[in-house]
Amino acid sequence: MLTDFPSFKARGMSNKFDVVIVGGGIIGLSCAHYLQKDGARVLVIDRGRYTEAASTGNAGMIVPSHIIPLSAPGVIANGIKWLMNPESPLYIKPSTDRHFMKWLWLFQKHCTPAHVRYAAPILRDLSLSSSELLTEICALPGFADVGLRHDGLLMLHNSDKTARANEELADMAQEAGLEVDRLDREGTLEVEPALKTQISGSVFFRQDTSIHPELLLRALETHVRAGGVEIRDGEVTSMNASGRAVSSVTADGEEIRADHFVLAAGSWTPHLTRSLGLNLPVQPAKGYSVTVPLENCDSDADAPRFKIPCVVTDEKLTITPMPGCIRFGGTLSLEGFDSSIDERRVRPIRRQAALYCSNVDDIQTWSGFRPASPDGLPYIGSLPKAGNVFVATGHGMMGVTHGPITGRLVAEMIAGRTPSLNAEPFRANR
Ligand SMILES: Cc1cc2nc3c(=O)[nH]c(=O)nc-3n(C[C@H](O)[C@H](O)[C@H](O)COP(=O)(O)OP(=O)(O)OC[C@H]3O[C@@H](n4cnc5c(N)ncnc54)[C@H](O)[C@@H]3O)c2cc1C
Repeated sequence: MLTDFPSFKARGMSNKFDVVIVGGGIIGLSCAHYLQKDGARVLVIDRGRYTEAASTGNAGMIVPSHIIPLSAPGVIANGIKWLMNPESPLYIKPSTDRHFMKWLWLFQKHCTPAHVRYAAPILRDLSLSSSELLTEICALPGFADVGLRHDGLLMLHNSDKTARANEELADMAQEAGLEVDRLDREGTLEVEPALKTQISGSVFFRQDTSIHPELLLRALETHVRAGGVEIRDGEVTSMNASGRAVSSVTADGEEIRADHFVLAAGSWTPHLTRSLGLNLPVQPAKGYSVTVPLENCDSDADAPRFKIPCVVTDEKLTITPMPGCIRFGGTLSLEGFDSSIDERRVRPIRRQAALYCSNVDDIQTWSGFRPASPDGLPYIGSLPKAGNVFVATGHGMMGVTHGPITGRLVAEMIAGRTPSLNAEPFRANR
């Protein structure tokens, strides 16, 4: 409410806002939702939310189960081992770019068991509270068709090695208080009779949910617009500072003033923070998806319909049933902002899709850049040298999962309220 924001005044339709948000992906729109609830006059500026945002073609899994950060022991070793394999799920392109080198150095520093123990409860709390908030949002008018499903998630395994990895994850998740079932092959097929992927068993995470990410984004956009949030197409090219604050941004040659700014520009956020004295270590981590309409998956009318989201752990692929389609996704490539599609890396995704659907080769591949932080935790907080600018990025593989809680934390910080979760681990300059 306005009273929570003593500095916010009702304003006319001038080019001055309470809050300008750069980026209209899931993070930017979630921030807009909670700021608007607080009575703020909000502008979202985005140069291509349905073309370049990671928030559209992703796997749509809401995953409290993912308590192990990307920076975990063994990741760098696998990256090196897989360097020469064009179909590997992880690819790190050798580069001398100094921002990338620094990110990689920080990343490998965090690939330790101690960091996993530190990050796991933080990720659990973020995910569980965000999942609750998403359920609240989806109960609002206009969200009925976004495909929120509370069916859980199956983490499938086939080889002994991935069975052991899933077993370790199950132990950790159970220790963290999550609901976990260990299933053999028959038990898994009982939960998902449509499975054709080769498996020896699985771990079933009942608290995970899923959503159709584009439908969520569109519903959120309609909802915040109806509540008075303005959304403009445009590219922010400069942040105009005066002293230790920013007074305006320039977008497509126009100056737009505000009291507060939120940088939710995904993988591109560091381009904006650098001029404000913060070299935010976020790298684009490219991933692919292939979305097959249900009519391509109905060739055998007697076959049961796929219903439970799955992670194929052996190949690090995802399968998500969504309204009207099944989406297959995977791969993580650290190779800068190269949006070209390497069909060799998409091949394992298409092979998986072909188990369930026909004419998979005719379907276009989507690619997106996950904004990856080196410690697997997001950045949510103000900039040390510009106190009225807040970053909200670095969510990596979990931006859909952590969107709502990020929006709420940003709104609480801007209003000067105590954040509903300890936000210290997310400091921008940690
Ligand atoms: C293959 C794949 C699968 C995934 N699966 C999942 C999943 O199952 N569950 C999950 O939780 N997460 C998943 N993710 C991760 C998730 O998609 C991201 O973490 C999330 O979408 C990031 O959202 P964002 O709003 O920060 O960034 P984005 O969605 O990238 O949005 C950033 C926006 O900023 C805009 N922008 C950038 N610079 C400027 C500028 N200067 N001026 C104006 N606009 C600008 C861009 O146009 C873009 O629209 C997946 C990602 C990939 C690639």
